[in-house]
Amino acid sequence: MNQRDLQNRKTLWDSTMGVAATLVLWPLIVSVPLMLQHTYANIFKSGWYAYQQKPKPLGLCLGLLAVAVGQTFVLCYQYVRWTKSKYAGKLVPVQPNEYRLYDYAEAAQEHLSQAEGFAVIGCYLTCTWMLHLMPSSYYSFEGGVAWSKVAACLLIQDFLQYVMHRAEHKVSKSLYRASHEPHHKFTNPRLFDAFNGSLTDTLLMIVLPLFATKSIVHCNVWTYMAFGTLYANWLCLIHSETHHPWDCVFQACGLGTAADHHVHHKLFSYNYGHLFSYWDRLCGTYRHPQNVRQFRKNHKDPTQWKPHK
Ligand SMILES: [Zn+2]
Ligand SMILES: [Zn+2]
Repeated sequence: MNQRDLQNRKTLWDSTMGVAATLVLWPLIVSVPLMLQHTYANIFKSGWYAYQQKPKPLGLCLGLLAVAVGQTFVLCYQYVRWTKSKYAGKLVPVQPNEYRLYDYAEAAQEHLSQAEGFAVIGCYLTCTWMLHLMPSSYYSFEGGVAWSKVAACLLIQDFLQYVMHRAEHKVSKSLYRASHEPHHKFTNPRLFDAFNGSLTDTLLMIVLPLFATKSIVHCNVWTYMAFGTLYANWLCLIHSETHHPWDCVFQACGLGTAADHHVHHKLFSYNYGHLFSYWDRLCGTYRHPQNVRQFRKNHKDPTQWKPHK
């Protein structure tokens, strides 16, 4: 076998692993609502989920479980890639001229225990659920996941996040410093930097849009769950230091990729959207990753990344 055949074989293997990872990971992210939407009545007593004007904790617990399960699969997927296993396929760094060395377990532990990340969002979800601040449709277990409403929630949430994100950058220097600046020390982010910022940043850019989105789109518990786990885990995935196998398809469809979000972290004033690039394209703030000089391989050896000061 000559060198060219060997290269082709590698490419076929990489593509196969990439397609397999995509087809397995995304359904796993929504595995809890997918598995329980039609079987819940056989598992739980009707008194635990029947809606009688008073919120019951089952829907909330399953929602938090859905995000936790999705996150577990995302961390396993990224771990396989971090080890540079042959099952990860070919790994391409988003920023090829810099590298970041880190201990996976340490980074994962820090990511999961950040007070301004999952803890704040978990508190918001618990309070709005148990204090009956959600529209009554959210407490209903009837009907499965309505995918059109999942899409609507993701689009509205991302649009509101775009507006808040841009405001944090542009309204005033003091607002930027008090809210979003800590997240911008990562000019070459990794998956674990997704929720690493400040409490104000999480409240303005995630919690407030979530509160508005739930008032605009009225869904049932399964739809809310699917939206929540897709949203939280996708936010992590776009911070990845390496390209994902689905990124070329996502890029073509205007869905957020790691490279799109790295453009924002590198240049600060482009790509304010996270899950979609539509708002940036409409408002003239989109920059394609291919047009960013720092994302093209130079002729020097990669240097170790240092946080932005
Ligand atoms: Zn970010
Ligand atoms: Zn920003």
